[in-house]
Amino acid sequence: MTDVQITIVGAGAVGHALAYELSKTLDDIVVVDPHPNVHKMDELTVQTTHNSGVIHAGIYYDRADRPFKARLCPQGNAKLYAFCQEHDVPHRKTGKLVVATEAWQLEYLADVKRVADENGVPGVEWLHTEDEIRRFEPNVQGIAALHVPTSGIIDPVEYLKKLHNLSDSTGRVSFVYGSRVTDIHPVSSGFQVTTHTQGQGQETFETRFLINAAGLHADEVMKMLDAESPHSIRPTPGESAKFYRKRDGIEMTGMNVYPAPYVHDPNGEVLSIPLSEARERVKAGEAFYTLGVHLTPTLGDEKGGYTKDPEGAYLLDKTVTVGPAKNKYSDTKDPELLKGDYQSLQRQPSYYHQRVHSFFPGLEEKDVELHQVGVMATIKGYPDWVITSDRNHPACVHLVGIDSPGLTGSLAIAEHVKRQYFP
Ligand SMILES: Cc1cc2nc3c(=O)[nH]c(=O)nc-3n(C[C@H](O)[C@H](O)[C@H](O)COP(=O)(O)OP(=O)(O)OC[C@H]3O[C@@H](n4cnc5c(N)ncnc54)[C@H](O)[C@@H]3O)c2cc1C
Repeated sequence: MTDVQITIVGAGAVGHALAYELSKTLDDIVVVDPHPNVHKMDELTVQTTHNSGVIHAGIYYDRADRPFKARLCPQGNAKLYAFCQEHDVPHRKTGKLVVATEAWQLEYLADVKRVADENGVPGVEWLHTEDEIRRFEPNVQGIAALHVPTSGIIDPVEYLKKLHNLSDSTGRVSFVYGSRVTDIHPVSSGFQVTTHTQGQGQETFETRFLINAAGLHADEVMKMLDAESPHSIRPTPGESAKFYRKRDGIEMTGMNVYPAPYVHDPNGEVLSIPLSEARERVKAGEAFYTLGVHLTPTLGDEKGGYTKDPEGAYLLDKTVTVGPAKNKYSDTKDPELLKGDYQSLQRQPSYYHQRVHSFFPGLEEKDVELHQVGVMATIKGYPDWVITSDRNHPACVHLVGIDSPGLTGSLAIAEHVKRQYFP
């Protein structure tokens, strides 16, 4: 491979969004990824192909401890809708309900509202009665809820393919599939990058700038340049299930429906405790915050394609996903094994049924089928994304721990990197 100006390590949503954004004004960009081809992405197991497909509004990320997510999720939300509209990517602004079914959850909802307002998320409103909730989703029950109009869903694989085609068509980006970056050395003109390609062996080339967008492996790529880097990824597998809206009691108008967020103990048991106590326990590492197992509609038609309604909105499929649920073993298993574990569907249908029963009582255990596993690139003990230049080599930018809502944030992340490091 010949020497280049900019190398992006990783061709997930973030690597692709970077290629798309940078290629608007810059040239000579290469994207390297071990996977065979973007058009086979739906067969692959990376975060971008195995997630909930929710376009998040940005209501959960407190700017005190998650400043990047607080800013770039709402920005990314608006950018993603605009991109999908302009380039006809299957998506839908479904809106979302965050539902409290018991009195102790109300202060958790109030906290979500506070964060949403601080983050400038538009239109978030209280629904104070079950009647108000049922006006949006007739089969959802609760004592209060937040209505979040800017939440939605997207087909992540179609999004990725569109980013790929747009970047490719500029003639400024080359995609090198089937190659893994195995080593990086600083040199006077930038970096010497070594790649390994199956069947072809090793190759080296030089690049002036380097961007590490390697998802679950971004910590390893960071350590190729900075062995003392403090950031390690603790992969978090999220399993999910699904059901079909095949009878009245489980029919939905098509919104994202989440419980009020809560904390759980290390065994996954919900802790019905005051928010102040929950915060203390999370700080002490005794409890873990979660958005909860939620209901997410999917896009599509019966023929496996997409259809639009007369107003041009993409129609929903009958399938609703339920999840994600954390693996039981995810805190104890070797992180390197977890990074590749997309097979272990450990939770049973009864688990999902129990988790959503309080706010979606019509669902029965027999309606629930297991669906998929996705593995999230979470940084142990650090709730935000790390987006930073390398401590010793400022021509390299690392993006580490790009967990949820990284799909939503991808275009805003790319714009941030461009402004900050490639002005
Ligand atoms: C279960 C689950 C549910 C989620 N739900 C949502 C949601 O509803 N909404 C939302 O906004 N976000 C969600 N997310 C998060 C979202 O999927 C990710 O934040 C986003 O996809 C991150 O994209 P990425 O490009 O950083 O990482 P990835 O998609 O993981 O891509 C990284 C790429 O880097 C490549 N790579 C790795 N190592 C190397 C190397 N050495 N050399 C070259 N290439 C390398 C990999 O092959 C991969 O293709 C969810 C994630 C999970 C797991």
